[in-house]
Amino acid sequence: MVYEANGRQSKKWTTFVHERIENGDFSPPFNMVESDHDIALEDTDRIHGRSALVNNVRAASSLAGAIRSTLGPKGLDKMLVEEDGSALVTNDGVTVIETANVEHPTARMLIDASSSQDRAARDGTTTTILLVAEMLQNALELVRMGVHPSVIVNGFEIALKESLLEIARLSIDANNVQKKRVVMTSLHGKGDSSLCEKISSLAILAAENLSEEKGEVDLERFRIKRIQVGVGNVMETDLVNGLMLLKSRVDVSSSKDSGSGNVAIIDGGLERAKLEINASIEVESPEALKEFHKRSIKRIEEKIEHLSSIGVDLLVVREGIEDEVISLLTKLGIVAYRRFERKDLELLSKITGAKPVRDPSRITEADLGRFSGRSEESIADVKHTLIEGEGVGMTLVVKGSSPAIREETIRIFDDAIGVAHRLNSSPGILPGGGATQSHLARHLRSFSQTQSGREQLAIEAYASALESIPMILAENAGMDPVDAILSLSADQKSSGSWMGLDLEKGKNRSMMENGVLDPEFVVRHALSGATEAAISVLRIDDVLWARTDPSTPDWQEDIEDYSSDSP
Ligand code: ADP
Ligand code: MG
Repeated sequence: MVYEANGRQSKKWTTFVHERIENGDFSPPFNMVESDHDIALEDTDRIHGRSALVNNVRAASSLAGAIRSTLGPKGLDKMLVEEDGSALVTNDGVTVIETANVEHPTARMLIDASSSQDRAARDGTTTTILLVAEMLQNALELVRMGVHPSVIVNGFEIALKESLLEIARLSIDANNVQKKRVVMTSLHGKGDSSLCEKISSLAILAAENLSEEKGEVDLERFRIKRIQVGVGNVMETDLVNGLMLLKSRVDVSSSKDSGSGNVAIIDGGLERAKLEINASIEVESPEALKEFHKRSIKRIEEKIEHLSSIGVDLLVVREGIEDEVISLLTKLGIVAYRRFERKDLELLSKITGAKPVRDPSRITEADLGRFSGRSEESIADVKHTLIEGEGVGMTLVVKGSSPAIREETIRIFDDAIGVAHRLNSSPGILPGGGATQSHLARHLRSFSQTQSGREQLAIEAYASALESIPMILAENAGMDPVDAILSLSADQKSSGSWMGLDLEKGKNRSMMENGVLDPEFVVRHALSGATEAAISVLRIDDVLWARTDPSTPDWQEDIEDYSSDSP
C-alpha cells in the first residue's frame, strides 16, 4: 500500500554480499572463477554491480517517497488500513513504514535505521529515511559520472565527521524555557496544540524529577506509571508524585490514610499452600481435614506476627492474602494491599527503598522501606490508592471520557518525556525549520574545497542531501522549495545560522525567536544513522537470492530496464 514495490509475496532472501572493493574494481566480484560459482549459484538469482545499486536506490527512494509528505508541522497525514478494515491516521513516519508490509531488503535496512533512531532518540525518524534516500540518489549520480562507490563512501565518512564537529560548534545548551520549546517542536503535528503544550509542561516537570537519577536506561518508562481515568477532560490530565493504583486496602475497616511508616514488599503470597494438580491427601475424618486447614492458617498467622515484630506498617503482596488472616493484620496495625503487577512492585521498591522478598518469614528489618504517606480516594467511583516515598517515582493520571483520546495522550506523553528526559543528559539544542541542515550544507561546500581528489564531489553530494530537509519542509508547506533554500542560504549568510524557515508565514526567521528548536542528540543520531545506512547500501555490490518461489517479486522486474547500466 505504501511501498510501491511491495505487493505479491516475494522470495525469501538468503544472502547479501557486502563487497568492499578497496582496490578500485567495481566489476562483478565472481569473475575469476565464474564457472564454479555458476554451478554453486544454480538455484540463486543474482543482480550485481551497478544494477544492484540502481535497484537498491530505487527501493530507498520509493520508501522515502511514501513518507516525504509527512515531514514537518505542515506535513499531511497517512491513513493506514489493516486487512480487517481498521484504520489508523498518523503523521509519524516510523509508524507508517513499520506498518507497511515492506519486503525489499534495502528498504528493510532503511526501516531498521529509522527504528533505531526511534529507540535511541525518540524523534527524527522521517528525517533519517529521507536523508538516506537523498544520499543514495546523489551517490548514484556520481557513480553514473564514473566515480567509484568506495570513493563516495570515503567522502561520506569525511562529511559526517565534519558535520558532527560543526554541529557541536552551532549548538547551545538549553535553558528551561527552551527545553519546553524543544519538546513542543518535537510534538508538532501529533495532536491538538493546547494538549501538546500541557503535556510538554508535564513532561518537563517529570524529567526534572528524574534528572538526579542515574544508571538506568529508559528510566522514563519505568519510573512513571501511566493510568487512565474515564472522567473529566483530557486537559485535566496530571502528574502525581508516587505510585497510584486502581485498588483499595484489603480491610476497609482499617484506616483510609496514614502518615509515614515502614513498608514490606512480598513478591509472593500469604495464602494456604495449593496442592499440585495430581497430588492428593488421604484424610481419615472431617476433623483431620479441619485440623490440616487450621494448621496452614496458623502458619500464615505466624508469618504475619513476624512482620509485625519487625515493625511493618504497610504490607504489599504480589499474590493473594487469605481472607481468614485479614482481621489479624488489622489487629496488629498492618494495612495490607494484595495482587500487584510486578512492574508496580518494582516502582514501589524504587520509591520506598523496600526490597521485595519472596518468603515473608525470611524478611528482615533491612529489607523494609519507608513510605512518607498513603491515601485513598474515589475517582469516578473507582478506589485509588497513592503511596509516596523519598525515591523518584511518578504516576501520570490521564483523564477524559474517550478512550481514543486518552490513548493518544499517553502516546504524546511518551514522545514528550522521551525527548525531555534525554535533554537532561544532552542539553544541546539546534535551530529547527531546516536551519541546521542548510547551515551544514554551506559549511560542507566550503570545507570540500580543502579536500583533494574525487572525495570533494562526494562531500558536495552529501551537502545537497542535507539541503533536501529544508526543501521538503518548504514543499510540504506549499512553498517553492528551490526559492526557499536559496533565500534561506542567503539570509543565513547575512543574519546568522539560526535563521530557518517560518512555515506559517512563508519566510525566514530566527528559530530562537520562533521557538522552533531541535535537540542536538536527535540531529546527530539522524545524521550518523542515515550516513551509516547509505554507506552499507553503497557497499553492496552483489545481491543473491534463493530461487524457491515461482513468483517473481515485482521490485525485481525492473532489473532488465537497467541492464544497459551495468559496467
Ligand atoms: P521526524 O520524524 O523526522 O521528527 P517531523 O515530521 O517531526 O519528522 O519533522 C521534523 C522537522 O520539522 C524538523 O526538521 C523540525 O525542525 C521541523 N519543524 C518542526 N516544527 C516546525 C515549525 N513550527 N516550523 C518549522 N519547522 C519545524
Ligand atoms: Mg518529529
